[in-house]
Amino acid sequence: MNDLASSAGEFFVWAVLFLGVTLILAYRRASLSLSSCVLGLLLLSYWALGSAPEWWKTLVSIPYTLLLLMNIRPLRVRSVTRPFLRSYRKLLPAMSATEREALDAGTVWWDGELFTGGPNWQKLMSAKVPALTAAEQAFLDGPCEDLCAMLDDWDITHTRADLPPQVWSFIKSQGFFGMIIPQRYGGLEFSAYAHSCVLIKIASRSGTASSTIAVPNSLGPAELLLHYGTEAQKNHFLPRLARGEEVPCFALTGPRAGSDAASIPDTGVICKGQWQGSEIVGMKLNFSKRYITLAPVATLVGLAFRLFDPDRLMGDRADLGITCALIPRETAGVTIGRRDFPLNVPFQNGPIQGHDVFVPIDAIIGGFGMAGQGWRMLVEQLSVGRCISLPSNATGGAQAAVYASAAYARIRRQFNMPIGRFEGVEQVLARMAARTYIMDAARSVTAGAIDGGEKPSVPSAMLKYHATEFGRMIANDAMDVHGGKGICLGPKNYLGRGYQIVPVAITVEGANILTRSLIIFGQGAVRCHPYVLKEMNAARNPDRETGIAEFDRALMGHVGFAISNAARSLVLGVTLARFTKVPRVGPTTRYFQHVNRYSASFALATDIAMLSLGGYLKKKETLSARLGDVLSAMYLASMVLKHHENQGRLPEDLPLVEWACRSLLYQAQEQLHLFLRNFPNRPLAALMRLLIFPRGLTYFPPSDRLGRSIADLIMNPTAARERLSRHIYKTPGTNNPLGQLQEALILSTVAESLEKRIRVDGVKTGRITALDLPGQISQALTLSILSDAEAAVLRDYDAKVSALIGVDDFAPHELRAGTGGDACTAGIGANSSPDS
Ligand SMILES: Cc1cc2nc3c(=O)[nH]c(=O)nc-3n(C[C@H](O)[C@H](O)[C@H](O)COP(=O)(O)OP(=O)(O)OC[C@H]3O[C@@H](n4cnc5c(N)ncnc54)[C@H](O)[C@@H]3O)c2cc1C
Repeated sequence: MNDLASSAGEFFVWAVLFLGVTLILAYRRASLSLSSCVLGLLLLSYWALGSAPEWWKTLVSIPYTLLLLMNIRPLRVRSVTRPFLRSYRKLLPAMSATEREALDAGTVWWDGELFTGGPNWQKLMSAKVPALTAAEQAFLDGPCEDLCAMLDDWDITHTRADLPPQVWSFIKSQGFFGMIIPQRYGGLEFSAYAHSCVLIKIASRSGTASSTIAVPNSLGPAELLLHYGTEAQKNHFLPRLARGEEVPCFALTGPRAGSDAASIPDTGVICKGQWQGSEIVGMKLNFSKRYITLAPVATLVGLAFRLFDPDRLMGDRADLGITCALIPRETAGVTIGRRDFPLNVPFQNGPIQGHDVFVPIDAIIGGFGMAGQGWRMLVEQLSVGRCISLPSNATGGAQAAVYASAAYARIRRQFNMPIGRFEGVEQVLARMAARTYIMDAARSVTAGAIDGGEKPSVPSAMLKYHATEFGRMIANDAMDVHGGKGICLGPKNYLGRGYQIVPVAITVEGANILTRSLIIFGQGAVRCHPYVLKEMNAARNPDRETGIAEFDRALMGHVGFAISNAARSLVLGVTLARFTKVPRVGPTTRYFQHVNRYSASFALATDIAMLSLGGYLKKKETLSARLGDVLSAMYLASMVLKHHENQGRLPEDLPLVEWACRSLLYQAQEQLHLFLRNFPNRPLAALMRLLIFPRGLTYFPPSDRLGRSIADLIMNPTAARERLSRHIYKTPGTNNPLGQLQEALILSTVAESLEKRIRVDGVKTGRITALDLPGQISQALTLSILSDAEAAVLRDYDAKVSALIGVDDFAPHELRAGTGGDACTAGIGANSSPDS
């Protein structure tokens, strides 16, 4: 009996030793040779010291022998790499040229670190802190403020269905259309960060104006010319675009080619034709486009089409591929000017058709050398533009909505309480604020990375998707907090049009369902993974022997990487990541550690999914989307942590940081859990669950108490509230509801105590009998419950609140289309812009 117990004890000790050493080697990512040496020494010790029978020791040595053999490269290539490569080639998903170009576009940045299972935080922490130059700040404080003051959104959206002429000329003359154009061409040459801040300010005021300004500064003629144009094209067009003498648009989408934009049926055929009185070789274009922003007023159309050269006039290729050209509006055969009407937010948008439009070859952006390069050009530039336009517009809308909702929740009373003091409303305000913090963090840190030279293509998809989705949630929440005040349209309504425009942001620049299901993880897995692209390129290498050598290197690295991530995921899951290295010790330490943990689990899940599902993973969009959600949650949490650092680790902002990180990391856990629940190979799902959630689902979303402290932060005139909405237009004035709400909020801190005195000393004692506040103030004055000065303060506050909670009403005929009715009450922002 004793013998049995001691051999079981010995077995246990050796088993723990072997497992422990293997786990440490894997966790520390030891090389194959080092692992072989260490395990070899351990095995020798076992042979020498262990009392187990010979047959058992021999059995234990078999896996080690196999490991040792893997060190002999020729043997490994013959017995493992070659057969695996044969199967791998069959599994490899077919990839079109356009997909390959999309994969090659842009750079890999922090997204790549998250795929490693052990992100190098130094890389993120040392990234440039985004900042405005003096000229950029002056533009925000000058022309940008002035533009915001000129904008009357009710007049724009309801009366004119357009920006007023003086706003158009101000936008053009002040260079708003040339923010990305270098100064040598007459542009403003703003950093990505400054560009983003300008859009935030304008978006907080008018969606019509911000969409109008975003487009010429995003993917379109200017950006394409800058990167690919010939010197002659740049010198001719860029100064004209910078001065607003040309209004550009970019036409890719057509009735049959929406999300699948690479399938455009629009053609250009190289042929001879008449141009300015002589015969030249040019292109005959036939196209039908729709939804094109600025098209109705554009003077210069950037056009994407498929170029053919059937008569081989320019070379030996008949199908040259997608090509981008610049077509002046007045070119014969172009039909332009009609308008689409995007959800009552009437920025200029409409269709363009072209029938047998003949233009010279040098209309191609970059000249004939760039024929067929159109798709690459578009996806390359999208990786920058998609980080800025829509995320900034959504952030501007969100910042304005939070700023307004928190103040409104303080001044609007029901049941004798500010509505923001009710727990239900408090939690809604908290999530609005924390999501806004996430949006601001992600757009500013990523803009900083762009200014540092990155073209982050996968983050651009994450930012576009999540900023617009958060924008949608915040718009909904703001409407709920405002109740009927948000619903009744009119000059006094500062929310309705922002709410209406939400689906536009969701749909454009890659519709969100597609972006989540196909792009974020689909592109990320191949682009950012440290080995997958290398393996794919090696497998496709036409030089077979070089391909095998490259594939062998990548495969060995990949196997070690996967084993290491399995070990890391298990260890970090068991220890809840308590002992991992972080760049900062303090209140945020645990969030850094949890990102480390999810990075390891995500990397493991990614490898197992790709290995077991291969090309089928592309079809399993819901699995791919969930992995994309995990990646996004880690990315956004990292942006929040870096943003908090960039802003000087302010303790006052900690509730926002904590809420943001907690909710994002909880999201990461839940999406991993759902990924495992839906993974088709159940034994593999069980194995992954063991390695990823060895202690079950342990992470919880933010607490109610945390929510309450955030609501407190933003329902008071705190510095955190100002920081959260730092770039929006909140200048006090008669035509700015945000400024007026802030004034009322500041007054409320005094007025509330006066109201309380009226209630306690007057109403409850029966001395004050009036039911409304104005009557109560008068009685309180008579009864000396309030002094003259206090009564004046309370009357002023009450007048402000009455104006702010008021809504517009209309005579029936005023609401009929085409009557352009004025609201019967003069409200916030009503008829106050210079043009109205
Ligand atoms: C207001 C506005 C302004 C615009 N401005 C411009 C412009 O200036 N220039 C320009 O060229 N285009 C512009 N567009 C076009 C815009 O880019 C397209 O609307 C967008 O690409 C989606 O195409 P679609 O509307 O045809 O939707 P569809 O492609 O028909 O998609 C419908 C739905 O199906 C989903 N879906 C499609 N394929 C998949 C898939 N494989 N997996 C999962 N889901 C999928 C989409 O996510 C979407 O939810 C604009 C559109 C609007 C509405």
